[in-house]
Amino acid sequence: MQELTHYINGAHVKGTSGRFADVYNPATGEVQAKVPLANHAEMDIAVQAAAAAQPAWAATNPQRRARVMMKFVALLNDNMDRLSEALSREHGKTLPDAAGDVQRGLEVVEYCVGAPELLKGDFTDSAGPGIDMYSMKQALGVCAGITPFNFPAMIPMWMFAPAIACGNAFILKPSERDPSVPMMLAELMEQAGLPKGILQVVNGDKEAVDAIIDHDVIQSIGFVGSTPIAEYIYGRGCSNGKRVQCFGGAKNHMIIMPDADLDQAADALIGAGYGAAGERCMAISVAVPVGKDTADKLIEKLIPRIESLKVGPYTSGNDVDYGPVVTAAAKANILKLVETGVDQGAELVVDGRDFNLQGYEDGFFVGPHLFDHATKDMDIYTKEIFGPVLVCVRAQTYEEALGLAMDHEYGNGTAIYTRDGDTARDFANRINIGMVGINVPIPVPLAYHTFGGWKKSAFGDLNQHGPDAFKFYTRTKTITSRWPSGIRQGGEFNFKAMD
Ligand code: NAD
Repeated sequence: MQELTHYINGAHVKGTSGRFADVYNPATGEVQAKVPLANHAEMDIAVQAAAAAQPAWAATNPQRRARVMMKFVALLNDNMDRLSEALSREHGKTLPDAAGDVQRGLEVVEYCVGAPELLKGDFTDSAGPGIDMYSMKQALGVCAGITPFNFPAMIPMWMFAPAIACGNAFILKPSERDPSVPMMLAELMEQAGLPKGILQVVNGDKEAVDAIIDHDVIQSIGFVGSTPIAEYIYGRGCSNGKRVQCFGGAKNHMIIMPDADLDQAADALIGAGYGAAGERCMAISVAVPVGKDTADKLIEKLIPRIESLKVGPYTSGNDVDYGPVVTAAAKANILKLVETGVDQGAELVVDGRDFNLQGYEDGFFVGPHLFDHATKDMDIYTKEIFGPVLVCVRAQTYEEALGLAMDHEYGNGTAIYTRDGDTARDFANRINIGMVGINVPIPVPLAYHTFGGWKKSAFGDLNQHGPDAFKFYTRTKTITSRWPSGIRQGGEFNFKAMD
């Protein structure tokens, strides 16, 4: 059994707490490694190393820091296959999807190559008589990030790339479900020229997270994961005086208008609803067709597409549409929610409950499900399922569909399918959700825009990546400066003629 380590001050360090978590291969159900769960003392060792290394890194000119990012991008590309394989083996997602996970993180690193431009300050010449005023963006110091299992490459890079480009040291506490890729990323950053102690990976669970929240030296916390944990970390982190941003769960609605291209909408729902086994915070988990005719036709188009989905292990390469979910517990939770849907009266028109994959009976595979005629009081509608389950809630009118999405407690992403620009524009303007797709099912913003939901999907003032990240990971200092007259008046500069 492989025993994983922490990555502290440039070295692989064994866990000393005596506590471990199992890391599964979700396709086979086998435990493939044990990951150490850090205690407060282990976290403190990493924090001390980070605090010792950070001032010199912050004093390194931004262009040199950006060159590390440049080299890191090249190394990510060189190691794409190795990273994707390790990611799929622990997460379960297909290989092309795993490469997409790395790629979307890589794009944030590319954006961070522009750090010298993004970190430039402001200057006012002669703000008063003989007075200049300027502001500069300075690194916070030691920052920390806590990341979820579902994007073990992209989300750590969303956080550590801008944090480090700004001159901070960063401690990453990745998900204990799939910790190997984050460790590989830290190794590659050092190969790219990052000094030891600037990016460290401390594995763990709640105890390690609490050690971060309560550590005086840590200045900021970034979190992505489920909403209850996001609320907990945001509340306690803020009351400890830290800068905190926490991103939570989702229930993303796609509204399908009667004028939409229904084949296009059905194809979009398949990818957005079932891709990565539904384990994406931007997955579409609710379809809201407007009008009976739209709903009937949409369901008719969805059923054969869902029934022909290919579910299998990542080792089948491009030959599978989605893989297993991450753990047996996640699978049990999804199937439990499906039962509530049946019990509460939704119509299960595609039933994946008996799904079994020959040769992989112990894997955490979940067959695809489609519910029709769900209503807004049902658990399958109110709760995040995070599995391959699409829930159709029929609406009579556009206003009713809009109201459904607006009243839901989550506000991460949403989409509308229509051919009418006026409807699309109205939707984009009125909806209280952070990321909106118009005939685009998973509207994940690119690296140079920012990512973030509204309502119970995000806590804090700034989004992730893009310009917001450079605000989150720096503090502004404004200097007002006046120089008393000096050498300019008192000095003797004239070449005097000899009298
Ligand atoms: P999770 O909340 O279980 O875990 C996230 C992190 O919190 C992990 O590092 C975990 O170790 C830690 N953690 C778990 N329990 C904790 C506790 N009691 N106290 C302190 N820390 C704890 O989430 P997950 O299952 O890894 O990820 C799936 C969730 O993340 C879904 O809800 C999904 O919607 C959400 N997510 C949101 C976004 C976004 O940007 N909004 C992106 C990806 C995933």
